[in-house]
Amino acid sequence: MASRANQRFLLGCALLCAAALPCADSSRLKAAESQQQPSVAATSFPIASAARLAGDGKQTRFILDIDQAVSFRAVTLADPYRVVVDVPQINFQLPAGAGAAGRGLVKAFRYGLVMPGGSRIVFDLTGPAKIATSYVLEAANGQPARLVLELEEVDRAAFLQSLPPESRPELRPAIADAPPATVAAATPEPGQPKADGRPIVVIDPGHGGIDNGTQSSGESEKNIVLAFGLALRDKLDKAGKYRVVMTRDDDTFIPLNDRTKIARNLKAALFVSIHADALPRAEGDAQGATIYTLSDKASDAEAQRLADAENRADAIAGFNLAEEPTDVADILIDLTQRETRTFSNRFARLLMGEMKSTVRMHKNPLKSAGFRVLKAPDVPSVLVEIGYVSNKGDLEHLVSDGWRSRAVGAMAQAIDGFLAKRLATAGSSN
Ligand SMILES: [Zn+2]
Repeated sequence: MASRANQRFLLGCALLCAAALPCADSSRLKAAESQQQPSVAATSFPIASAARLAGDGKQTRFILDIDQAVSFRAVTLADPYRVVVDVPQINFQLPAGAGAAGRGLVKAFRYGLVMPGGSRIVFDLTGPAKIATSYVLEAANGQPARLVLELEEVDRAAFLQSLPPESRPELRPAIADAPPATVAAATPEPGQPKADGRPIVVIDPGHGGIDNGTQSSGESEKNIVLAFGLALRDKLDKAGKYRVVMTRDDDTFIPLNDRTKIARNLKAALFVSIHADALPRAEGDAQGATIYTLSDKASDAEAQRLADAENRADAIAGFNLAEEPTDVADILIDLTQRETRTFSNRFARLLMGEMKSTVRMHKNPLKSAGFRVLKAPDVPSVLVEIGYVSNKGDLEHLVSDGWRSRAVGAMAQAIDGFLAKRLATAGSSN
């Protein structure tokens, strides 16, 4: 069952199949597949086999070959200029690198799951453009079914006029009370423990679905961090001391705000976001794990760059950044927040202590910046960059079972240390 919040985000929600099918996009899901995901035949979803762009900077056409006709909805978004096409879940079997090179009005495009049952294609535009026509052709005369989108250059004024009502700020519904939007949290799996008095640890593998995160040598951050998060969950589950909730346990995209909402609604004792960074080639090489906490001012330029990159996740997935509530700045000066930050910093130091004896750390392993995913005012939160996918040595670690198990062990140790102390303090009423 898709939650209300996700449906609100998903402009084409009415088109999506309601069944919450687990992801079966086999070609893009190495990490999750190795865990016991229920197996749903990938063939039960329409298969997209080819995509092409034609035309120029005035008019550009996009064509997607599919093995059956699908319903869809296409909308434009501003700042940055994008076109978002929502379709039912599709098994994308496009050649590697499809979408990386643009043409005409399209700078690049990407595709993938945004929720169980729903896929999305996001086009980054070179400038304002309108959807002149869009349609699906049934298979005919030996040709597969095709989704066709024709874009036409327009000026900014015309572009803003063409935005759907959902994207206009003045018509947007208030969303402050929206429930958490993840399948994992909203509808626990049968057999998963319900609230039982144990402290709740939320593990947040970054990115997912349409948002690959950083990529290097054919490895995607979203798969690496999901495998890590699931391994950490299994480790903590085995000990049984905490209730562990994943913001995602498959290849689905979760908006940043929903990730923190999951932790807040569950009154989690700790929120750990897992990422794996990459350094742009021009900036040399960097290696090792880094632990980030929230701050108004970044601890250094690299921390700022990273927070900017991570905070772009929603835009990458085709969500409108303007939809975000603006109260985070106020929350930052709240007293609860100040106490939460003290706890976050304490956990970060504990974690560094455990990790440095086990895995390679960055030369400055404790940093801070304005990560949106760390802004829950009442849940101690850290973001761990477990290594650099851009560094050859780190990447070898990141995909190795042995390294992962050592790093997960150190993290579980730090979580134990942190929560033991917190519970003792809470038990003696401070
Ligand atoms: Zn990331």
